[in-house]
Amino acid sequence: MKFIKYFLVIFFVTNFSYSSFSNELNIYSHRQPYLIKPFLDAYTKKTGIKLNVVYASKGLAQRLASEGENTIADLILTVDIGRLYIYKDKNLLAKINSIILNKAIPKHLRSEDGTWFGLSKRSRVIAVSKSTIKKGEIQRYEDLANPKWKGKVCSRPGSHVYNRALMSSLIAVHGYDKALKWAKGFVKNLGKRPQGNDRSQIKSIYSGECEIAIINHYYYGKLTYSNKKEHKEWAKSARIIFPNQGVNDRGAHINISGGGVVKFSKRKGEAIKFLEFLVSKEAQKLYGNVNYEYPISNLFETPSKLKALGSFREDKLLIEKIAILSPKAQEIIDTVYW
Ligand code: FE
Repeated sequence: MKFIKYFLVIFFVTNFSYSSFSNELNIYSHRQPYLIKPFLDAYTKKTGIKLNVVYASKGLAQRLASEGENTIADLILTVDIGRLYIYKDKNLLAKINSIILNKAIPKHLRSEDGTWFGLSKRSRVIAVSKSTIKKGEIQRYEDLANPKWKGKVCSRPGSHVYNRALMSSLIAVHGYDKALKWAKGFVKNLGKRPQGNDRSQIKSIYSGECEIAIINHYYYGKLTYSNKKEHKEWAKSARIIFPNQGVNDRGAHINISGGGVVKFSKRKGEAIKFLEFLVSKEAQKLYGNVNYEYPISNLFETPSKLKALGSFREDKLLIEKIAILSPKAQEIIDTVYW
C-alpha cells in the first residue's frame, strides 16, 4: 500500500513538472485540496484553464526558494498571515498592482507592496460550555487569564499558527510584558496539556473535560452543520463568543487565508486573473459555503449559515503586524510552555 502511494506521488510530481502550457496554472498550496477544489473547478469551468496543485502543509516556501527561476509554480495559496508573510520575506512574490484586488480587499488585509493578498477571513473566538458558563461571564481574550477559570480552559498547542497569531495580536495591543503576563495566566488556567486541534477542543467541552476553549469560528460552523450526529451534539454543548466587542474595545482577532503570484512565474497575467477570480462575488460566496469563512470585505454578502453564528466587530489591526510580531509571540509561547 505504501509503495502504491509512493508511486502515485512520483507519478504526480513528474507529470506536474511538465505542465507549463499556457492554458494551465500551477499552484503551491498549504490549503487542503478538498477546500480549494471547488474554486479550481469553478475557474476551469469558466475559463478552460486547468489548475494543477502541489499540496503540502510545510516546506513549500523553502522549495520555491530553492527552485528559484526554474520554478513552474505560478501562485501560492495559504492560510495564516504568518505563513503568507514568509513568502514576501524571502522575496518569492511578484509585486502586483491590480485595481480589482485593491478594490475588493481592505488595505489592512493586503500587502502595501502588492505581494500578498488576503482572500477570506476567519476569527479566533472563545467557545464555552452552554451549561456552566453564563452569558456575559467571559467577554474578552484577556478574561481567559483570570484565575477564576483555573483548570477549566483547553487549547491546542500555543505554537500552532492560529494561536501564535492571536498571541501576536495581544503583543500588538498590550506590549510584550503585559502579553507575557496574560500568557502566564492563561496557561495556569489550562485543565490539561495543550493538545489536539480546534475541533477536539469543542469535543472536550461536550465531554465535560473543559468549559472554555479558543477556536477558529469556522470549526464551530462545520460541526453545527455536519451530517454526523455526534458533531452536532458537540456543537450544541457549546456557545461561541466573539471577543472584545465592547464599544471602546478593539474587536475580535482576525486572520486570513491568502495568496500571491510567484515572482518567477512565467504566466503572471493569468495568475493575477485567478487571484482576481478569488475576490469575485462567486468565489467569495464559495469561501462561506465550503468552509464557513467570511468574505474578505463587506462588499460581499455573508452566507446565511454563517450569519447565523452571529455578527461581530473585528480588530482592524494592520494584519502584517501579526506576522512581524510572530517571533516575539513564539518566544512568549515557549517561555510559558503553552
Ligand atoms: Fe483551520
